Amino acid sequence: MNIIYKNISGCVNADTAAEDELELINRHTIKPLTADEVFCFTLTLCDNEIDRDSERFSIPSLIKLASLFDGRTGIADHNMKSDSQTARIFKTWIEESESEITSTGEKYTCLKARAYMPRTPKNEDLIKQIEAGIKKETSVSCSVAAVSCSVCGADLRKKGCKHRKGEVYDGKVCHTVLEEPTDAYEWSFVAVPAQPRAGVTKSFEAGEEMSIAQIKEKSGGYDSVTLSISAFGKLTDEIARLEVLAKDAELYRKGLEHQVIKLGTMAVPSLGTEEFAQICSALTSEQLSVLEKAFAESASKLFPVIPQLSGNWTKNENNNNEFKI
Ligand SMILES: [Zn+2]
Repeated sequence: MNIIYKNISGCVNADTAAEDELELINRHTIKPLTADEVFCFTLTLCDNEIDRDSERFSIPSLIKLASLFDGRTGIADHNMKSDSQTARIFKTWIEESESEITSTGEKYTCLKARAYMPRTPKNEDLIKQIEAGIKKETSVSCSVAAVSCSVCGADLRKKGCKHRKGEVYDGKVCHTVLEEPTDAYEWSFVAVPAQPRAGVTKSFEAGEEMSIAQIKEKSGGYDSVTLSISAFGKLTDEIARLEVLAKDAELYRKGLEHQVIKLGTMAVPSLGTEEFAQICSALTSEQLSVLEKAFAESASKLFPVIPQLSGNWTKNENNNNEFKI
């Protein structure tokens, strides 16, 4: 299961509970609370704009998330400890802007929520911070069943595609569309990030067969990457395999360098082994291989090798004089 965390900035507004809202709030309480006993606020949970991870929720996703987030508790910094649960959403709705258009040309649409917290001494500080506009950043965590490419529509959980996030195709920026939300876990006030929407975490789970290059590409723009134990196991196995290959490659390269230095000093005697060693260190193995062939050719012209079992040998009619001392 992939948990997606999305931060949104500047969207928490303190408020008081309207009379009809108390009814909604008291569905969640054991003892009915009065208007004086609760603190209410409005918050934006997520929207349909492309975010800094080049991802966006589709409008149907926002509608589904509206029902999934109703009743969810708010925690601090995505810490699941129950004592950090301070607020609860009691109402969610979709808000569509009449004037604002997103970068994909849709009407700006966001998922809004009303949340409450009891006015207790423990919550006093947090309430003051919300009222003062200090607590402005929130983050939601949810999971989606489909992540698709905005250009070709490929479901990226099942297969890759040739399009790269952030690049422009036919005048449109490629991004991924988060679709079919399956669960909403919680929402959280997050420590004020230096830049809006910072601190996003991406998690990869087992079952996602990805090369290191794909992991690198998918993790682009995130501040951290979380791997499941099985994904971590796969990655360490891959690293162990590459380490064996790297050792072989190192031995091959050493042999190649040795050969180039040996043949090079024969072909170009004016250069010493040290000079050749220096030249070799700056070349790729492929370039060394080309050089080795070239030097071997010129060395064989300069110092032709007389084959020990030459065809002429048996035709020599000097009665084995070569062997006579
Ligand atoms: Zn694509």
